[in-house]
Amino acid sequence: MTRISPLLRRTYPLAALLACLIAAAALLARPAAAARFDPPPRTAIVGGTVLPLDGRGAIANGVILIEGDRIVAVGPASDVTVPDDARRIDATGRWLMPGLMNMHVHLALILPGAEAMRLRFETPEARALRAADNARRSLLAGTTTIRSTGDRSGATFAVRQAVEARRIAGPRIFASGAPIAPTGGHGTEPGSDGLDGPYEVRAAARAQIAKGADWIKIMISRGIASYSGDIAAADMTFDEMQAVTEIADRRGVQVTAHSGSPAATLEALEAGVDCFEHGYYLTPKVFDAMREAGAWYVPTIVVSQQGAMEFFRKIGSPQWYLDRAKSVGKVHWAALQAAVASGVDIAMGSDQFPFEPNEGTVASVREIELYVDAGMTPAQALRAATVNPARLLGASDELGTLSAGKYADIIGLDADPLADISALRTISLVMAGGYVHRNDRQAD
Ligand SMILES: [Zn+2]
Repeated sequence: MTRISPLLRRTYPLAALLACLIAAAALLARPAAAARFDPPPRTAIVGGTVLPLDGRGAIANGVILIEGDRIVAVGPASDVTVPDDARRIDATGRWLMPGLMNMHVHLALILPGAEAMRLRFETPEARALRAADNARRSLLAGTTTIRSTGDRSGATFAVRQAVEARRIAGPRIFASGAPIAPTGGHGTEPGSDGLDGPYEVRAAARAQIAKGADWIKIMISRGIASYSGDIAAADMTFDEMQAVTEIADRRGVQVTAHSGSPAATLEALEAGVDCFEHGYYLTPKVFDAMREAGAWYVPTIVVSQQGAMEFFRKIGSPQWYLDRAKSVGKVHWAALQAAVASGVDIAMGSDQFPFEPNEGTVASVREIELYVDAGMTPAQALRAATVNPARLLGASDELGTLSAGKYADIIGLDADPLADISALRTISLVMAGGYVHRNDRQAD
């Protein structure tokens, strides 16, 4: 620290204080020490079977060479030279693939029930810490990228910033900020104000983009967690949807819609909405229209199937909520089957925490398993959770496959997911941006 002369301190206390402040500022301005989760300069993952998902087949005895946070080479051991100074990770007996990408997550999720009552007076600070913990647990469960589809607090933006600075462990975050819902619409409470008419909706979309939203989430129909009304009711008007897509287009931001409704979905396609969540009551005709428009479907199938009941019990869901969830189980499943058959672009999203226990595994994995049950091949299901989300996010240059130039977001499994999708239950290695966050076979 800068020395302050005793004279100065005695004669000019204010000047001394100022000198102290300047010295402190100089300390702060020094280059920061390495962040907690900075990767080593070079890493090589060797000995495993690599599934790059970039058009190449499985590479037995493969090498993934990583510099900092990026992959620089992927190939058979005979083709990739490992530099002497590289940190080696032995992946013998493992299958290596891109980290899972979950496109429907709420890091600060609160659903109706006893849990919501406990969180009733949660402060924004506490919420940010809870969201950070959920981000860490999501990553450790193998989900290396998420898209946040709604957070009325600023917690997710704060977590994103901390993850990007590598101060905390978490997945990469693409975030939509607060959802835009009409008065009485999905996600609002009785008596609370929603956003009505194109003017209010434009202002809200602009506000979210100003806060850092990569996406805008709109509530075009009602849902399971709506306190009343038909789940398929189409609440948002065409001019409101169009107002949002107009603002989003001007800023290069995409729009996704919570939708249980065929009518609302068809209107939203006309309005230029890019992506649809849940789709409880969507029909083959609607999926065909989505495919033709190049729109995306994020099924969140786990929320209406048997495995979710364990979660609902845990959070003390009220009977009306359980009844609503059960009422869409069959039709939601038929919608997923129709979507798979139609060839519409599907990106994995769970609407539960990616790490949430579900049927003996976690929500991200269960969601992918259900895609196979609904008609996808294991290869298609893996793509729905990696390559496709990268494309949905406009991040195919950086994410989604194990190829030179992309971020080293990699998971290791103890079995082959192409042979049996349930191999995803054996995730035992998680790397994000070149940093090993989890390696169950290593003591460190
Ligand atoms: Zn949701």
